[in-house]
Amino acid sequence: MANDLQGPWDVIVVGGGNAALCAAITAAEAGARVLILEGAPKPYRGGNSRHTRNFRCMHRGPLSVLTGSYAEDEYFDDLLLVTKGKTDEALARFVIRSSEECLPWMEAHGVRFQPSLSGTLSLSRTNAFFLGGGKALVNAYYNMAQDLGVTVVYEAQVTHVVLEGDRFTHVEVSVASGPTECVSGKSVVLASGGFQSDVDWLARAWGPAARNFLIRGTPYNRGVVLRDMLDQGCESVGDPTQCHAVAIDGRAPKYDGGIVTRLDCVPFAVVVNKHCERFYDEGEDVWPKRYAIWGRLVAAQPGQVGYALIDAKSYNLFMPSVFPPVKADTIGELGQKLGLDPAKLSATVGAFNDACRPGKFHPTERDGLATEGLTPPKTNWARPLETPPFYGYQLRPGVTFTYLGLRVTQDAAVQTRSGPLRNVWAAGEMIAGSILGQGYLAGFGMTIGTVFGRVAGRQAAAHALTKKETLRVA
Ligand SMILES: Cc1cc2nc3c(=O)[nH]c(=O)nc-3n(C[C@H](O)[C@H](O)[C@H](O)COP(=O)(O)OP(=O)(O)OC[C@H]3O[C@@H](n4cnc5c(N)ncnc54)[C@H](O)[C@@H]3O)c2cc1C
Repeated sequence: MANDLQGPWDVIVVGGGNAALCAAITAAEAGARVLILEGAPKPYRGGNSRHTRNFRCMHRGPLSVLTGSYAEDEYFDDLLLVTKGKTDEALARFVIRSSEECLPWMEAHGVRFQPSLSGTLSLSRTNAFFLGGGKALVNAYYNMAQDLGVTVVYEAQVTHVVLEGDRFTHVEVSVASGPTECVSGKSVVLASGGFQSDVDWLARAWGPAARNFLIRGTPYNRGVVLRDMLDQGCESVGDPTQCHAVAIDGRAPKYDGGIVTRLDCVPFAVVVNKHCERFYDEGEDVWPKRYAIWGRLVAAQPGQVGYALIDAKSYNLFMPSVFPPVKADTIGELGQKLGLDPAKLSATVGAFNDACRPGKFHPTERDGLATEGLTPPKTNWARPLETPPFYGYQLRPGVTFTYLGLRVTQDAAVQTRSGPLRNVWAAGEMIAGSILGQGYLAGFGMTIGTVFGRVAGRQAAAHALTKKETLRVA
């Protein structure tokens, strides 16, 4: 057995992102001997968590960088709005209420916050931004875990969680593609994310169109442990077709493009599919509110591709894109450069321009500047594309994370049809489907992971430290 895997272990944590680290730190602080098995190599540790920027936090008055107050009911109403009621109210309210104590806990464990960035997302009251982003948060937690004596093994792919009746006995793990080894512990915390990076699984859920989706985060979240637990009779929550997906720059890499591949130009654009047809109201609402629907809209188009077109008037109205846009002096030339039929594109933009009406344009609020007699309409920020140069961006669906997960109790214990397992807890994306039946609330992924990661770590340590069992290290 590889030296680092030698136990005995009280708590084994599968995964190395936010939820796993919160669990590992909490368990270690309770006095447990903790092993983290992180599937990724060290430079890519931290899963999707390293791509994050903020977390959503309830607070009764100004708290750290957060302004004003954000009460439980308002937070819950915001969640109801995006999930359209598809949530477990008890779990959701538990997460919301617990979020208030998370912020000071995070600060005490090395996370630094900064006021929210101005620009397209104005979340200074509801969301606390991590100074240095998710990467800095993950690094701070790894440092803290190391100080607490937690052992971390990288490139440690867990392939099977071995259960005997209602108890976990050991995990099967391959380190750096080596032979399978068995590692025993008294408790296990599963925090290995969703299944979005297994494109075959995505395609089974969504159909072949899913092969054209881009994955915004880590390639290591392939749902191996999730599948293994479901195959062993653990209860699932959530719908495999539900996920967080946004429209991103079509030139983004297949995996790990992260936040910079986001495109914020849609409200000011005319968006067409590859047949040069508009398919949705680009000006439905301010961008943060509509941001999460465009992934699905583009996914439903032929070839899973869209094109956002703007003119010089709008170029400086949104966060600059990481890749420069395609630029042309006429709409026909832009179509040619984007691989679209120039005549058809010119006709679509011409019809759009004809439907625009004069009025006052306000880029930061719904201005009611709507098209007339056009289907679908553009209900705000509708200005003709007539000022060269013209710019175009290819859009593709970018999947953030999937919602199918494991059902857990409020104590984060993994549920089977005959009740909770006695020494298996889960946290993070792996359980998010209970609370996020559909839709998404910005910053809530990290809140769910922080709250349930800490609960899982506490429970796993309590179980391990009160049981005087003989460890079986295979
Ligand atoms: C680009 C982007 C931006 C985002 N921005 C935000 C934001 O600002 N705020 C927010 O709240 N949420 C955001 N999210 C969502 C957020 O990242 C997730 O909700 C959150 O990070 C989930 O944490 P987690 O610990 O459950 O999963 P992850 O952080 O993804 O960690 C999963 C871990 O499991 C490991 N793993 C997977 N399979 C195995 C295996 N078989 N064996 C061992 N290890 C394994 C992975 O390597 C990884 O370390 C963003 C996501 C992306 C992709």
